[in-house]
Amino acid sequence: MAEIDTTQGGAAVPGDWTYASAPESTDIVRIAERYGHYVGGEWLEASETYETISPRDEAPLAAIGQATKAEVESAVAAARNAYADGWSSLPGSERAKYLFRIARILQERAREFAVLESLNGGKPINESRDVDLPLAAAHFFYYAGWADKLEYAFPNRRPRPVGVAGQIIPWNFPLLMLAWKVAPALACGNTVVLKPAETTPLTALLFCDVLRQAELPAGVVNIVTGDGRTGAALVESDGVDKIAFTGSTEVGKAIQRQLAGSGKKLTLELGGKAANIVFDDCALDQTVEGIVNGIYFNQGHVCCAGSRLLVQESIYEPLVEKLKRRLTTLRVGDPLDKNTDVGAINSAMQLEKIKELVAAGEEEGAEIYQPPCVLPEKGYWFAPTVFTNVAQSYRIAQEEIFGPVLSVLTFRTPDEAVEKANNTPYGLSAGVWTEKGSRILWMAQRLRAGVVWANTYNRFDPTSPFGGYKESGFGREGGRHGLEPYLRFDE
Ligand code: NDP
Repeated sequence: MAEIDTTQGGAAVPGDWTYASAPESTDIVRIAERYGHYVGGEWLEASETYETISPRDEAPLAAIGQATKAEVESAVAAARNAYADGWSSLPGSERAKYLFRIARILQERAREFAVLESLNGGKPINESRDVDLPLAAAHFFYYAGWADKLEYAFPNRRPRPVGVAGQIIPWNFPLLMLAWKVAPALACGNTVVLKPAETTPLTALLFCDVLRQAELPAGVVNIVTGDGRTGAALVESDGVDKIAFTGSTEVGKAIQRQLAGSGKKLTLELGGKAANIVFDDCALDQTVEGIVNGIYFNQGHVCCAGSRLLVQESIYEPLVEKLKRRLTTLRVGDPLDKNTDVGAINSAMQLEKIKELVAAGEEEGAEIYQPPCVLPEKGYWFAPTVFTNVAQSYRIAQEEIFGPVLSVLTFRTPDEAVEKANNTPYGLSAGVWTEKGSRILWMAQRLRAGVVWANTYNRFDPTSPFGGYKESGFGREGGRHGLEPYLRFDE
């Protein structure tokens, strides 16, 4: 056990938590110098490219295609052909076989995908290995099971596929968001054009290799890379019947405006500013772990992150002290080190955004705490941060920071906790920590959030629907609910 040094900022700090480095080898990953777009089961040469880098050291990894409008249209045409050419009328049990195959291949190649995810996105390898990859495979397994049971999922409603789904995903869970989008779409008999985020295209491009290995018919899944212009071209395309978008509220709103009146189906999974609510009868140590997982998991690049901690006043002091102490034991650094808890910030742009909001928090009068930690010189890094003395009106209590930054507020009664928790334009998730089951249910009924975790946080399961209220979007992903956006019904 490390010696405790109690001199740092009032919080007891373990003196030496040095771990020997445990780097994961990158030998398993083969990155091409240049990638095109995956269209109709073939690689289409990209007319323009940009460079993707690793946020851990800013090293260039590959040249990535920047899809033009014409290239997006060729992907949509390939998806349309595959839809008409047999995929939409294939029996569900046959579609399921492909999904099962994809799931198994992801499991077999999990290490390769995990290393690539951490290299390109900056998340710790223990998270890509133990969370992203198992959950991505589980999603394909789960929706494979539904493919031949749609009539039972929606009895007497004659479920039929929608057509071509355009899917736009963010950079925080690149492969997992792909799985959330692609698996239900295929299970329901749709074909897909997917655009990964500009900064994290590599696992989606490797996934094309899995599609070939699984012998998925050409054109059923097409992948075009590029920045927001490519996403916009996909949204505009007349050949797309449905758009599924995960990302910022700002872009989500723009897409909704653009699609109004077009007849295209739309689901939006947008930002969040979740309240993680701690009552004084909670199991304190377990709660501290849950708070840490809630906000520092994936560097806080999580739409449902527990970024507003609401603590019952009577336990505020011991809880904050324990939390600060726990922060000193978090290891920040190389995402490919198996000991790392907090990896690299995904991009220079995101780092700027975090810095800007943290500076605003300090200016508005909140008190900042960051544990002593040495950040690598190259790459994008931000120390785990806790703000206390936060008023509800401060930007750090209102805006999504999407970084490892926690704002702590207090409450006295359950009613006040509900009032404060719901005082946000968002409504994606919430957490409740208490010993009382009745209080959990009372809170869950009143919190305007799509997901409410009790005595845990950031738990995901393909069988459980996920999605928001208010400015966090609409539509659900996961579970039986996640099939509905990819179906139309004769009623
Ligand atoms: P965006 O909403 O810009 O990105 C999400 C996806 O949409 C990306 O693939 C992006 O491409 C694409 N896109 C961008 N502009 C358009 C457009 N006009 N039409 C169609 N698609 C478009 O999020 P950012 O990456 O810019 O992050 C900004 C902020 O959004 C973050 O700081 C965070 O607060 C929030 N965010 C929330 C997420 C969530 O899960 N709720 C996920 C990611 C971000 P490209 O990558 O090339 O920009």
